[in-house]
Amino acid sequence: MEFRYENITIKILQGYGEIGGNCIIIENKDSKIVFDQGIRFSRFRRFYNANVQPVGFTEMINLGIIPDLTDLKDVFISHLHLDHLGLLHPLQLGTTVYVPNEQIFNAFIEPYKAANNWTTYISPSIGVDIVDVSKNNDNVIPLAVEHSAYPAFSYYYDTGNIKLLYTGDMRISSPLGALTPEIHKKLHEKTLLEEYEEKGLVSDVLIIEGTNFTPHTTPVSSHYFIEQISNIFQNHSNSLMFASIDSLDAEAILSILLIAKTYNRIPVITGRRLINMVKLWIDLSELSGDIYQLEDKVINFNIVEEDEIEKNPSNYLILSSKGEPLEFVRRTKIGKGSVIISLTAEAQSESGEDESVEDSWLKMLGFIVYRLRMSGHYYPYELKYILDVIRPKKVIPIHTEVPSIMCEYVSQLGYECLGRT
Ligand SMILES: [Zn+2]
Repeated sequence: MEFRYENITIKILQGYGEIGGNCIIIENKDSKIVFDQGIRFSRFRRFYNANVQPVGFTEMINLGIIPDLTDLKDVFISHLHLDHLGLLHPLQLGTTVYVPNEQIFNAFIEPYKAANNWTTYISPSIGVDIVDVSKNNDNVIPLAVEHSAYPAFSYYYDTGNIKLLYTGDMRISSPLGALTPEIHKKLHEKTLLEEYEEKGLVSDVLIIEGTNFTPHTTPVSSHYFIEQISNIFQNHSNSLMFASIDSLDAEAILSILLIAKTYNRIPVITGRRLINMVKLWIDLSELSGDIYQLEDKVINFNIVEEDEIEKNPSNYLILSSKGEPLEFVRRTKIGKGSVIISLTAEAQSESGEDESVEDSWLKMLGFIVYRLRMSGHYYPYELKYILDVIRPKKVIPIHTEVPSIMCEYVSQLGYECLGRT
């Protein structure tokens, strides 16, 4: 899919008319840069399952699951969800990958390095430079946005005469902001729309995500999310409680930890990735209070023994990564009558997750299940507000299955989509 605006060409390799796997190339006379290079999980699932695994990344390129970026040097990643980050291993020597935050990137990527399946290609090979996006020399300004992965950026690109804004994935609301504005400020000093107005930016072209224009179910708002989680903690005070959560979703994790603290629950973190990431979120937010973990290769918190939890189950909240909450419970059989809050972060096409196996286990183990989805994306009713702040001359919808419906709505709001070439 190709668009032209004066002297620049916008090639959408992936992500037009689909959710997940964004990849945009901006070409102008003497430069070429890439925004995101994600995995198309909807296509991934068509060709692979538990028995059929990729035989290499070249096969994944040939199948159109990941883009072919062989002659490109500068890649900007908006956030670390795999439908945006993609596989870094196939990138050529000498490529620079700009990431939202190097330290968070390294912590996130570390468990993939040792993986003995295709996810090992997520980590970059030697010779590919990983650089903090704030250090780029391409006139790309990162503007922080709220999303279900932290940190997340929109990118404002000034090509000299054309100014372009790519939103990445974004929402307008924030659960942490609704719960504790002071802690929220530590993660987000400002977000896109505030910064855009303050800096007096203008945009010729706005490439904007539209995930929530045709959702399977409309996800809950931040306020409802906080209210529900509080209700659950308040009324299940006699049960052991679990929460399964995406390790990148700093806001959801911190919100749950804050609510747990209000109800005197001792949080216990399980699994190496989550132990690593939660440490970063705690340091960033300066959240106080004791946090424990189960025995693991990585030790970031005090250790609590499993039999201690079995003795006083209603004292604890156990946090685990999506997809791996079950090992400890299957072994100890303490699930019966326990409560689990399972947070479905995003649509399946964005994460490649299959929750049916988790569902079967939770039922079999006797859990009371709360499944909540709080979206990392804005709602259609918020588009007017966004457009009225950005005031773009032209709009290109991305990360939506229904770009034409979005464009129809955009024109109703007094703006205009850019025609394809
Ligand atoms: Zn995302």
